[in-house]
Amino acid sequence: DDTIVLADLAKRMGIKASEMIKKLMMLGVMVTVNQTIDFDTAVLVASEFGYEVEKAAFEEDTFLHIEEESTPGAMVGRSPVVTIMGHVDHGKTSLLDVIRKTRITEIEAGGITQHIGAYSVKTSGGQVTFLDTPGHEAFTAMRARGAIVTDIVVLVVAADDGVMPQTIEAINHSKAANVPIIVAINKMDKDGADPDRVTRELSEHNLMPEDWGGDTIFVKVSAKQNQGIDALLEMILLQAEVLELKANPDKHAKGYVVESKLDAGRGPVATILVQEGTLRAGDPVVCGVHHGKIRAMLNDRGQQVESAGPSEPVEVLGLSGVPNAGDEMIVLDDDKSAKQVSEHRLQKQRSIGLAKTSRISLEKLFERM
Ligand code: GDP
Ligand code: MG
Repeated sequence: DDTIVLADLAKRMGIKASEMIKKLMMLGVMVTVNQTIDFDTAVLVASEFGYEVEKAAFEEDTFLHIEEESTPGAMVGRSPVVTIMGHVDHGKTSLLDVIRKTRITEIEAGGITQHIGAYSVKTSGGQVTFLDTPGHEAFTAMRARGAIVTDIVVLVVAADDGVMPQTIEAINHSKAANVPIIVAINKMDKDGADPDRVTRELSEHNLMPEDWGGDTIFVKVSAKQNQGIDALLEMILLQAEVLELKANPDKHAKGYVVESKLDAGRGPVATILVQEGTLRAGDPVVCGVHHGKIRAMLNDRGQQVESAGPSEPVEVLGLSGVPNAGDEMIVLDDDKSAKQVSEHRLQKQRSIGLAKTSRISLEKLFERM
C-alpha cells in the first residue's frame, strides 16, 4: 500500500495542493486533491520541488503483539463454541431457545436473556457457548478471512422434511472450515418424522452415524417437546473433549465481532466472542477500522462483567464506530496506539474507496465516448 493522498503529500511538503496538481499535470498525471498517487509519482513530483520522499511504512504489527506466542504451559482448557446451522424452519431458533431456557433460567432465577447473538450455557458437564443464527452470517464472514471461531456445528435437520438446500450449504461450509458436525434430527414428535430417511440422505453427503459405519454423531431431538436435549449437550461436550480445546487467558485479548449495532442511548455496541487472552473493562482496543476504550461489558443476561476469557461472549460498549460482523477486536497497550492503528486502517479504507470511485468515473467517461 504505497500510496498517499495528494492533499496529504502537499501538506507535508508545505506547498499548495493546487501547485502540486499543476506540476503533476505538466508531468502528464491528472489527479485531484483527494485522489491518491503512488510512491513513484510522489518521488517524481517531490523532486520537482526539491524534496526527497522516503518510504516509512506504518508497521501495524508492532502494535498488535503478534510476537506474544502462546507458550504450551500457559494454555488452559476452554469451553466449546457451537454454531447451530440448518435449513430455514427446521428448528434452529427453537432448539437454541429450549437449550437456553432450560439451562439458564433454571439455574439463575429471574435471569432474563437478552439478544446478543451469542449465549453461554451452563450444563452439568461444563460451559458451552452457542452462536445464534446471525452468528451464521458472522461465521461465513469469518470463514472468508480464515478466522474460524466455531469449534462444532450442530446441523439441524427436520425429521419430516429431510435434507434441503440450506442443509447442504451448511454441510459445505462446515467441511470447508474443517469443523466437526453433530447432526440433530429435530421434530421427532411429528407424525411424518422419518429419521431413517434423513440419515440416508445425509449419508449421501458423507455424514454417517457409527452404526452405519461412519463417525458422525446423530442425536434425535424435539425442540418442541424438550426431548433429547440433554443427550445433544452431552454429545457436544464429548466432541469438545476430543478436540482438546485450549487457549491462553494470560495475554492481550483477541476476539471476533459476532453482532453489532448502533444503540440510540449506548452508542456503538458489539458482541465479542473472546478467542484468546482476557478482555477487561478499560482495555484500549482496535476493532476493524474503529478503536476505543472498553467502557462497559455485559454478559448475555445483561449483567455487567469486569472481564471475559476465551470462548466467552460479551457485549462491549465504548467503540468509536460500529464494526462489522467478523471483524477482529484486539487489545493494544494504550489509547494512543489504538487510535493510530485505527486511523491507519481508516486511511487505507478511504484510499481503496477513492481508487474505486475514480475507476468508476473513468468507466463512466468511456461509456459516454
Ligand atoms: P429456524 O428457522 O430453523 O430457526 O426454525 P424455528 O425454530 O423458527 O422453527 C420453525 C417452526 O418449526 C416453528 O413453527 C416451530 O414451532 C416449529 N418447530 C421447531 N422445532 C419443532 C419440533 O421439535 N417439533 C415440532 N412439531 N415443531 C417444531
Ligand atoms: Mg431461526
